[in-house]
Amino acid sequence: MKPSIEKLRKFFRLEADREYDNKAVMGGLANILSSWELDARKDQLPEQLIQAVITRLRDYHRLSEESREVALKGIWQRLTRETDFDLSQGQPQVSPPQPADDPEPPTPQSKPSEEIPKSGSELPVQDGTPRDRPVQEPESPPETVTPAQPAPTPPPDLDFDSPLSTIKGIGIKKEAALEKMGIHTVNDLLYTFPRRHDDYSQLKPISKLWYGEDVTIIGTVQSVSTRSVRGGKMKIVEAMISDKSGAIRATWFNQPWMESQLKKAKQVVLSGVVEEYLGRLVMNTPEWEPLSPKQLHTNRIVPVYPLTRDITQKWLRKVIHSVVEQYVPYKQDPLPETIRRDNQLPALSDALRQIHFPDSDEDLQNARQRLAFDELFLLQMGVLEQKKQWESRPGEVFESPADWLEVQLKALPFELTAAQQNALDQVRGDLGSGTPMNRLLQGDVGSGKTVIAALAAMIVIRGGGQAAVMAPTSILAEQHFQSLSSLLVRDDQTALKQPVIRLLIGATPEKEKAEIREGLADGTIKLVVGTHALLQDPVKFHNLQLAVVDEQHRFGVEQRGLLRQKGDNPHLLVMTATPIPRSLALTLYGDLELSIIDELPPGRQPIQTHILFPREIERAYGLIRSQVDLGNQAFIIYPLVEESEKIEGKAAVEEFNLLQKEIFSSYQLGLLHGQMSAEDKDAVMTHFRDKEIQILVSTTVVEVGVDIPDATVMLVEGADRFGLAQLHQLRGRVGRGSEKSYCILVPGNAEDVENQRLQAMVETDNGFILAEKDLAIRGPGQFLGTRQSGYTQLKLASITDLKLLEQARAQATALFQQDPDLNQESHQALAQAVKEFWTRQSAGDIS
Ligand code: ADP
Ligand code: MG
Repeated sequence: MKPSIEKLRKFFRLEADREYDNKAVMGGLANILSSWELDARKDQLPEQLIQAVITRLRDYHRLSEESREVALKGIWQRLTRETDFDLSQGQPQVSPPQPADDPEPPTPQSKPSEEIPKSGSELPVQDGTPRDRPVQEPESPPETVTPAQPAPTPPPDLDFDSPLSTIKGIGIKKEAALEKMGIHTVNDLLYTFPRRHDDYSQLKPISKLWYGEDVTIIGTVQSVSTRSVRGGKMKIVEAMISDKSGAIRATWFNQPWMESQLKKAKQVVLSGVVEEYLGRLVMNTPEWEPLSPKQLHTNRIVPVYPLTRDITQKWLRKVIHSVVEQYVPYKQDPLPETIRRDNQLPALSDALRQIHFPDSDEDLQNARQRLAFDELFLLQMGVLEQKKQWESRPGEVFESPADWLEVQLKALPFELTAAQQNALDQVRGDLGSGTPMNRLLQGDVGSGKTVIAALAAMIVIRGGGQAAVMAPTSILAEQHFQSLSSLLVRDDQTALKQPVIRLLIGATPEKEKAEIREGLADGTIKLVVGTHALLQDPVKFHNLQLAVVDEQHRFGVEQRGLLRQKGDNPHLLVMTATPIPRSLALTLYGDLELSIIDELPPGRQPIQTHILFPREIERAYGLIRSQVDLGNQAFIIYPLVEESEKIEGKAAVEEFNLLQKEIFSSYQLGLLHGQMSAEDKDAVMTHFRDKEIQILVSTTVVEVGVDIPDATVMLVEGADRFGLAQLHQLRGRVGRGSEKSYCILVPGNAEDVENQRLQAMVETDNGFILAEKDLAIRGPGQFLGTRQSGYTQLKLASITDLKLLEQARAQATALFQQDPDLNQESHQALAQAVKEFWTRQSAGDIS
């Protein structure tokens, strides 16, 4: 079975075992997507299938447990239908597990107490009692920045890369479970940071709990009972837990052994999210452990770690505590002393100790700051290194004489804006420099990036090179193909002639593919536009000198690299509409130079954005009718997040029929949804572009790049379910011509009219401002989208922390100038740390 499918199978199975609580993967199933997408591409799964999986799983957390089950089953069926692997051994179990599957209940009372011998005694402790190995206890002085104290020489057998099995208390079974979490060595364990800390001095009384809170409570078991549901297939253990202030119900699904664990009158600690059931607060399957008096007395602030099956909180805490005690004093600090001091950072060994078992909130904050700094600093060092390598190899020089360029510019249907002219100058500079271009072209939707790519391609082709433009979807690739053709193919001498520009996508017929491959290999094709199909092995270029990647955030760093490898050090132009604040772009894409098109072509009217109550929808329909009567076109977008492909298709079709028959009976409607084949989608888009379709009803497949100049209304239903970046992209589909355009946002519920994101859409059409709001509202992970791959090693650093980002970048740049190869004796540990960081980085551990 292909690794990517095998991976899904594992996660799906785990989810099934967990009754679809979306906890099989840390942070939710959607978290596997960015790494999975890369794997799936490596395995060459069909693009549509990849997109389908991503679309389903991206919204998995919003579904009810039942819907989740249907969703996973649906995906799995589709996978089995559309990929030809042998499923007989691969079927994930999508029903509750048989008891035999799970002989050992994942509770604190299972094996661990046997697996861990005395070493950590009753954990966690802070007093540093001597263990088998000498433990150095640095008395930390009050200031945050401790003076340099070189780590003591470790005993010869102390190796941070030792496998887990060398740690006392970790047997084969636990080792396997930890490996599943991506933890393989002592070092990995030290860098498995707590999800949060519980401060037992600040516990919440039960009566003060709020719906949705993630809390820890201490209480006494009042009663416990088990009931069966689903005809006895599933058992639910229910317990009432009370403290002085009140009581709350806690339930565990399919963990029948819980009944015997929760003895009446026993004191327990519960952690989890407070939910609501039939109007009462409950905790569903909370993490729990028996209360030990030591927790309260010896350790005020206790780490809470991410877990998987077979790993319990208490056990992991114990193991990490003993590893911290044993190893951390010997941890070398790779950060040069001056940098540490300049940035007021604690020593690495202190930070590692405090991040796990902090003495105070302040120590914890300092530890976080230090470890977050490390991440950004190492990221930046690696990025600088890549850039240096890239620039160390010569790039071919491509001139663009002014008179020749003038002919090209004159032939365009419009005049470049000042911002486009500026970007073009920078590109010309790069192409003529002898160093390979490595440039990120950032410009809002509709700012006119394509023409820059077109001109860059012309310059390279003029000099005898080939160019490739890669887009994330076939529709977009086709659109690029058409606009590039219309910009570049003309009658005059200096222009391209067909068939030197070709389109290569997954749906291209085999015969034509072969022909294109031949043309690329012998050099007769000068410009090829395509999807990741361009990356596939049989595609060889005669002389690829320019690689253009559109919509960067949809491709991983690796794919950028793959396309580049198709040539001998070609020039690279990356285009993105995601408006990232500059300092963030410099870190994330630090190996790229940055050009920004911050101006829209003239003659565009601002798009009027309105939020309507769901009951006012008829007003939106009225607007659409009147616009279409004027000869314009409209989009109606539905956020279908249905359980299975079939249902989605069906819901879209039903909605479409209703609109066509009841609402817009005298107009021509078209339908686009995720279950359609690439050819069908392209056909519909073509009809829409050619105005045979006046109103396009669509799920979100139109999100990216499609250009319909006469479209003046974008109606988004269920708008509260979209992210800001997505809404902004959708709005960018209209207002491309000179007519006044409208974006109508209708949330699913009346209350969501107040939705922050929708309000932000009304307030501004500036992509940069929206990006910053989005960052503030949703946090960086969401903002970059699960598709953003390659930054899996940022565990603590938040890329919204622009100040720390800037600090780390400045320090890394300064150090890099001084010792780019990290050859100096004092930089050896740092060189090693950079290497390790980037190895882990590209391994993309995520689960
Ligand atoms: P994006 O940056 O979103 O990729 P495109 O390159 O697709 O934008 O351009 C959007 C639209 O604007 C296209 O129809 C294009 O022909 C047009 N356009 C681009 N540059 C100019 C310009 N300088 N003046 C007028 N129209 C332009
Ligand atoms: Mg574009």
